Amino acid sequence: MTDSRQPQVTVLAGPTAVGKGTVSTYIRDNYPEVWLSVSATTRSPRAGEQDGVHYYFIDREEFDHRVQTGQMLEWAVVHGKNSYGTLRSTVQDAVAAGRRVLLEIDLQGARQVKESMPEAQFVFLAPPSWEELVRRLVGRGTESAEEQQRRLETAKLELAAESEFDVTIVNDDVQRAAGELVALMGLTPHSR
Ligand code: 5GP
Repeated sequence: MTDSRQPQVTVLAGPTAVGKGTVSTYIRDNYPEVWLSVSATTRSPRAGEQDGVHYYFIDREEFDHRVQTGQMLEWAVVHGKNSYGTLRSTVQDAVAAGRRVLLEIDLQGARQVKESMPEAQFVFLAPPSWEELVRRLVGRGTESAEEQQRRLETAKLELAAESEFDVTIVNDDVQRAAGELVALMGLTPHSR
């Protein structure tokens, strides 16, 4: 069940490796009333990632065309490399269908959504400590040492932006953090 007094769109941001993906996937899988936005990106799929499920994998030309024709609600170059963006139409369709919408995006994108949708709810997902963030990033082993360094530089800047958000959730435990987000989104807690 959803509460109509709650903002319909929730933006979840936070530094690299903090667990935004895990928390938002947990909510998508347990709360069918929530629509987790599928972003477009120019990066290549990782093993196991499916087009249209994890991202819309599109090439640079198509991405730029969508930006230039105003199809992106927000977009950013993340970690100095690939572009990521939210397609305006997909969010509009979900809102029109009365779904709760969850956007899992980076800080630059969150700032753009704040400009165009100030009525949305902005949630910052924080690590329990800097040391734990480094441990998670290195531990997942999906990035090269150089890429890890780049992401940690960005993470320092992102952590400094916490005060721009309506509320902070500390991701010390995925289910607990997801439970806090569920409460903020006005969803009735349940587990499956
Ligand atoms: P990854 O390459 O690890 O899937 O994602 C890298 C970063 O891109 C994450 O911090 C994620 O939040 C961000 N990201 C994913 N989709 C979007 C989007 O649509 N817009 C923006 N601004 N950032 C995104």
